[in-house]
Amino acid sequence: MAGVETESRASRRLRITVAGTVQGVGFRPFVYRLAGQHGLSGWVRNVADGVLIEVEGDESALRIFAEVLRTDAPTLASVSDSTVVTIPAEGGTGFAIRESIEGADIRPIVPPDIATCPDCLSDMTSPANRRYAYPFTNCTNCGPRFTIIERIPYDRAGTTMSGFRMCPDCETEYRDPLDRRFHAQPNACPVCGPHLILDGVRSAEDREVVAQAADLLLAGSVLAIKGLGGFHLACDARSDEAVSALRTRKGRVGKPFALMCLDHIEARRICVVDAPSEALLLSPERPIVLMPARHGNGISHFVVEGSSDLGVMLPYTPLHHLLLSAGPPTLVMTSGNLSEEPIAHEDCDAARRLRHIADHILAHDRPIHVPCDDSVMRVFEDAPMPIRRARGFVPRPIDLGVEMPQILACGGDLKSTFCLTKGSLAVLSQHLGDLENAPTLDHYERMVAHFRRFFDCEPEVVAHDLHPDYHSTRYAESSGIARQIAVQHHHAHIASCMAENGLEGPVIGVAFDGTGYGADGRIWGGEFLVADSRDFRRAAHLQYVPLPGGDAAVRRPGRMALSYLLRACGPDVAVQLLTPEEVRVVAAQIERGVNCPLTSSMGRLFDAVSALLGVCREVTYEGQAAMELKAAASGPSEGVYRYDLSRDGGPIRVDVRPMIREIVEEVARGKQVAGISAKFHSTIADMTVRVCSALRDQTGLSRVAMSGGVFQNVLLLGMVAERLRKRGFEVLIHRLVPCNDGGLSLGQAVVAAGRCMR
Ligand code: ZN
Ligand code: ZN
Ligand code: FE
Repeated sequence: MAGVETESRASRRLRITVAGTVQGVGFRPFVYRLAGQHGLSGWVRNVADGVLIEVEGDESALRIFAEVLRTDAPTLASVSDSTVVTIPAEGGTGFAIRESIEGADIRPIVPPDIATCPDCLSDMTSPANRRYAYPFTNCTNCGPRFTIIERIPYDRAGTTMSGFRMCPDCETEYRDPLDRRFHAQPNACPVCGPHLILDGVRSAEDREVVAQAADLLLAGSVLAIKGLGGFHLACDARSDEAVSALRTRKGRVGKPFALMCLDHIEARRICVVDAPSEALLLSPERPIVLMPARHGNGISHFVVEGSSDLGVMLPYTPLHHLLLSAGPPTLVMTSGNLSEEPIAHEDCDAARRLRHIADHILAHDRPIHVPCDDSVMRVFEDAPMPIRRARGFVPRPIDLGVEMPQILACGGDLKSTFCLTKGSLAVLSQHLGDLENAPTLDHYERMVAHFRRFFDCEPEVVAHDLHPDYHSTRYAESSGIARQIAVQHHHAHIASCMAENGLEGPVIGVAFDGTGYGADGRIWGGEFLVADSRDFRRAAHLQYVPLPGGDAAVRRPGRMALSYLLRACGPDVAVQLLTPEEVRVVAAQIERGVNCPLTSSMGRLFDAVSALLGVCREVTYEGQAAMELKAAASGPSEGVYRYDLSRDGGPIRVDVRPMIREIVEEVARGKQVAGISAKFHSTIADMTVRVCSALRDQTGLSRVAMSGGVFQNVLLLGMVAERLRKRGFEVLIHRLVPCNDGGLSLGQAVVAAGRCMR
């Protein structure tokens, strides 16, 4: 027997279980190589909750093995837990990688989709390589994951690659533990793998198809291009004609389009890219990164109107690399959908829905099982801050460090996501869109079912927004889950910020957003809470103003401006800034109180000021007025406007009427919009710090958690954070989930868990 010598000294056998994101990331080959290096025998296999290892050998080799296992795991792996027990020695020689077994206790282990790695890029660009210019090249370190996995354990049979039978060459790589493609489930080559389909015609000559598609783009065509998580609509970003055609056909008026640049050099040419933004652009997650545009960058002005930031990403699939190398160096790459519907991901669906928008459709025959949009991030104070969390990040769990019951948190209705908890982990869905759209709601329901199966989660508790009419609330009520917990919108925002910062509270929570259902049935949004992860007290808020026409006022910031003007200055001044007809209609609405709820929303105050200054009187997408107001601000602000804090024992109320009057005077005197906008931002920051200081005096708390969609405005966020720190506050902001309603579901889950454990 060959292993006799080893065996005679093999004093121990260990059974090691490793949980976390350890499947599909090259963990087993890593274990295999490690065991080989140290002359250890045994085996490794995927199990439902991670990886199971049995390893046998002498004491010192085992110690090194266990140590390196912890410290040198593959880059894409993330180990959440590992246990080691000694079991009776069995002897034997060699180390094997065994087949997966299905198990009961499934924990979140599915990896996200990862951008093409440098090794695969080098394969694709070497003419001698058998994957030269092959658009579906991938390996253990890169490629599709989340979007192609139908069930776990993660094996080829459980993915949308199951229909492709590997050729002998691919099979050899797949079986060789020392190969980079060992057990790379989507492994493929031109002989056996997926191919491109241009306008319904599949061709094995991918290189020619890419050349054709690149020429079409250069000639100004709009193409629907199938990516990892769905279809994009793409065109040459330099062409006014192409970009404006895309805008018209997609029915998207003002919202900026995302761009994809050939490489970071091209990105630097069109944007001001600082070092942290560049690192983010080049990260394996490859999000869209928001950065200031450069003047004269040659990009069509139809790409973005009224904002100085551009959203740029770098190629993240082999097809993107090939197309951008042969075609325009910068493409518009916007989600392949009609505004607010879910992204198209099935070929027939894309053909039906995108036919009228795209001149040509570039698809392929690797099915997408789970649609997933691009993630959007920006850099704030040198670190990434998420705006939309999707591809590259989902379904990576967030470890909250405390055991929780199994909870389904349904999120909000706009920018919706949901969250499942299991053990100490929270898994958020990808950004799903606005549930007011029937197709999005269907998609949402399908995704909840998928994630529940994926993570074998049987929620005992369902958490939802306090708003009785949210679709997500109704979904929760009809979910059949017995225990339902309603969580106030702004409490959920603050709880999500606390949770990702590892805090249970209490804190001072500053929640500034557009709309959230208040505990008094009114529309909140300029809120200061004293909160922990169970309860909150509303400690201060913007004074209520009428929201004339409800949603109509959200679409038409001019109405909001009028609402503030009538309160601050009376009808005479109001007339000077708006047409008499408009004033008459809105004033009557406010007077009669018909369809005129009260709101303390900070988002609406930004809208009002934006409209007052003539920056934006009508919006075509959420947050537009505030974004354009921020973009208009420049120069140092001279002081702050007046405002009053009224205190009578209850919550502090912030009265901004004095500020509105001063702004009206400055407008009348012809002061520049840039200066007024800067001074307005400074005033809101000043007010925030003053209220926080008052609450610190009241409660002794000096930690401030900031959340809510208004804080996507980094000018405001920066001012508030800096001034709070100067006054000795500890400032908590979002780094893992969005501050907008995309992060709400995490906060709901945390509050529900807090209430259950009371
Ligand atoms: Zn690779
Ligand atoms: Zn092959
Ligand atoms: Fe919100």
